[in-house]
Amino acid sequence: MSLAEVERSLDVQEAGRRMHAFAARAFPIVRSITGDGMRQTLALIRERVPLRIHEVPTGTPVLDWTVPPEWNLREAWIADSTGRRIVDLAASSLHVVGYSTPVRARMSLAELRPHLHSLPSQPSLVPYRTAYYEPAWGFCLTHRQLEGLKDGEYEVCIDSTLAPGSLTYGELVIPGELEDEVLLSCHSCHPALANDNLSGMAVAALLAESLAGRKLRYSYRFLFIPGTIGSITWLARNPDAVGRIRHGLVLTCVGDPGDSTYKRSRRGDAEIDRVAVHVLSHAGSGYAVQDFFPYGYDERQYCSPGYDLAVGCLMRSPHGRFPEYHTSADNLDFITPAALGDSFVKLVRILRILEENRTYRSCHPYGEPQLGRRGLYKAVGGQPDTPDRQMSMLWALNLADGRHSLLDMAERAALPFALMQETAELLVQHGLLREIGSGGSGGAAT
Ligand code: ZN
Repeated sequence: MSLAEVERSLDVQEAGRRMHAFAARAFPIVRSITGDGMRQTLALIRERVPLRIHEVPTGTPVLDWTVPPEWNLREAWIADSTGRRIVDLAASSLHVVGYSTPVRARMSLAELRPHLHSLPSQPSLVPYRTAYYEPAWGFCLTHRQLEGLKDGEYEVCIDSTLAPGSLTYGELVIPGELEDEVLLSCHSCHPALANDNLSGMAVAALLAESLAGRKLRYSYRFLFIPGTIGSITWLARNPDAVGRIRHGLVLTCVGDPGDSTYKRSRRGDAEIDRVAVHVLSHAGSGYAVQDFFPYGYDERQYCSPGYDLAVGCLMRSPHGRFPEYHTSADNLDFITPAALGDSFVKLVRILRILEENRTYRSCHPYGEPQLGRRGLYKAVGGQPDTPDRQMSMLWALNLADGRHSLLDMAERAALPFALMQETAELLVQHGLLREIGSGGSGGAAT
C-alpha cells in the first residue's frame, strides 16, 4: 500500500528541513482562535494542499458553547514618558494578551501594573496569556523588564477589534477505498509558539501533501483548528463524519528534541493506542506513554463521553512539562528539523500499520505444519535475526485462527509489525496461511 511508498521514498532530513521552514514562515503571524492571523496561517497550508476553509459566524451555537466574536489586532505597544516604545507587538505577538479589548490611554505605572504579566520564576522569558472568554486587556513581558519599569506616566495602545465575524478553520479529506476515516487534528491558534502549535501543523501539512493522490485504504481527514472551540465547532457541525472516524491522532509538540510521548485515547486499548505504543516501543529510542486524562488538547473533546472516539495524542515533550512551554523560549530554535523528521517517520509508521493490519487463518491448524519440507525452517539461515524470524513464523502459524491480527501477533511475540507481516506473506506464498480480513482484532476477523 502506498503508506509504504511514503516511508520508502522519505528523505527524513529534507522533510525535517521543510517542516522547520514552514514553522519559520508561520511564526511571525499574529494568530489567535479567530481572525486574520488564522486565515493567513491556513493560506500557507493551502499553497500546498487544497484545504477547505470554513467560516462559522460569531454567535453560532456549537454544542454547549457559542462561536465568539472575531478578534483582530493591528497594533499594540506601551510607550514610556519619553515616547519610547518599551513593549511592542511588532517585536513579538506574545507581548499582547490574546483577545485583549481595545485601549488607548495614559496611565501611571500603578494603574498599568495589573495589566502586565510576567514569569518571576523565568525572569528572562515572555509568557503566553489569553483572555478569550472574559473582556480584559494586557501585555506580557519579561520579569526582568517589568522590575526595571520606573514610576511615571505610560501611554498604552491596543488597536484591536472584537466584533461579529467568524471562526475560521481548515479541513481536508483525502479519500481512500473505505469511508472509514483516520482523523488528524492540530490546533492552529497559538501566536509565536513553535513546538506548541506550529510543529503539529508542519507535520500534518507534510503528511497531507504526502498522502494526496496515493492509493489508501482509509480516508484521511485533516483538521487545522483553533484549540477547544475549533474541535467543538467541528464536532457540532459534522455528526455524520464523526461516525466514520475509526482512528485519530491529535498532533502537537512534535518538534522538540525530547523523547516521543503517546497519550492514549479515553478507551485506552483502541487499535490506535496499541499501534502507537507498538511503533514507539520498536523505534529504538526512549519514549513515554500516558493514560488518558481530561486535560491537554483537543483529544479532550474527541474523547468526551458522548463521542468517545479512538483519538490519542502524539507528542514529544508533553505540554506543561518542559520549561519552554507557553513562553518565548518555545521558539524556532527549540524545534529542530531532526525532531520534526523523527516525529513524521513515527507518524507514517503508525498509519502504515493501521492501513496494513490484516487477519489470517492457518490452512494447517492441526499440529505444526512441517516447515523443513517446505524450505521454511531456517530458510534465512545465517542472518542475524534468524531466531526472531523463526519465532515470528511459529507465532504467526499459532495465532492465525482468524481472531488475531498481525498487530496481535507482533505484540504477543514482542517482534516488530514489519517482521510479522513479512513472515505472514511468506507463509501465504507457501499455502500455510490465508488472509481473511483487514483491520484489527474484533473487526473484519469475525
Ligand atoms: Zn498551548
